[in-house]
Amino acid sequence: MRIEPDIKLGFKDVMIRPKRSTLSSRSQVSLDRNYVLRSSGIKWEGIPVIAANMDTVGTFTMAESLAEEGLVTAIHKHYSIEEWKLFLKDREDKFFDHIMVSTGTSEKDHQKLKDILGIDDRIKFICIDVANGYSEAFVSFVETVRHEYPKKGIIAGNVVTGEMVEELLLAGADIIKVGIGPGSVCTTRVKTGVGYPQISAIIECADAAHGLGGQIIADGGCTRPGDVAKAFGAGADFVMLGGMFAGHAETGGQILDKEDGTKVMLFYGMSSDTAMEKHSGGVASYRASEGKTVEIPFRGSVINTIQDILGGVRSACTYVGASRLKELTKRTTFIRVQEQENQLFR
Ligand code: 5GP
Repeated sequence: MRIEPDIKLGFKDVMIRPKRSTLSSRSQVSLDRNYVLRSSGIKWEGIPVIAANMDTVGTFTMAESLAEEGLVTAIHKHYSIEEWKLFLKDREDKFFDHIMVSTGTSEKDHQKLKDILGIDDRIKFICIDVANGYSEAFVSFVETVRHEYPKKGIIAGNVVTGEMVEELLLAGADIIKVGIGPGSVCTTRVKTGVGYPQISAIIECADAAHGLGGQIIADGGCTRPGDVAKAFGAGADFVMLGGMFAGHAETGGQILDKEDGTKVMLFYGMSSDTAMEKHSGGVASYRASEGKTVEIPFRGSVINTIQDILGGVRSACTYVGASRLKELTKRTTFIRVQEQENQLFR
């Protein structure tokens, strides 16, 4: 056994210190980013915020709304090939910068990935997603997919430490998804004791990825726009959101009427009992579910939420004098705070 003595930090443990700024309005801030991906050579431009590949978030309708605003959707892996064909019909080239096809690593997933990519060769991004990105089998799956699709952007995760970011980039991934345990409907930390505070994970993984010309996606744990700003401030190239995009009309979920007259929607982790009942006929006996199911207030169209999130990030940029999102990390100094201090502003 070994203990790492450094204290690792989460979103609630830090705030961004304001800095002298020449910017007078948040309208002067650009949130657009450009990246050239290290293995595929793809050039991407857009607003680097991604809807998570959960079936209560990363839907086709969400993708249409987010693409219009320049954001990205990692589409969940439970659509049929027929549904994909209809969805991709008559799309403009630009649309493909704003969607990712998600896959697991099973043979069935692999075959389905090939079938989806076969529908339209303009599909650019493959998101290879497993709860634990530390297995050898995962690394070799990433290598296989890179070999099969040298020109596609490959996203791989999730991991939380620099050495694994490097290994996955060297195996052929372009972008690494970072986060184990911070998700709003994730119970991994409770069930297994495994995890890593997300701000430290982002700082350490971004450093490792940028050293090799790769990018990272900070995935999980953002509950308000300020957290998204903190994730970018810590060095994230993209931020992925589940809970913050859930509960909207675009998720296609059922709207439930409560006795007190409010309306709610169900939001659940992709390894919760609810998801496993729905997609795999129950939880396998050797594993515990590592996700939970919650009711969240119905929030109407996602457009207002997008504006709220992007407005918060723009404002964070003006507080530190960053005229472009690209400059936010350089201009960020985090101060450590007592968790209670941050709770006051919830
Ligand atoms: P959120 O933005 O809601 O805090 O986090 C979203 C992320 O939580 C997803 O992108 C995914 O990485 C993670 N996640 C989704 N479902 C589950 C689950 O059932 N268990 C775990 N451990 N993580 C999940």
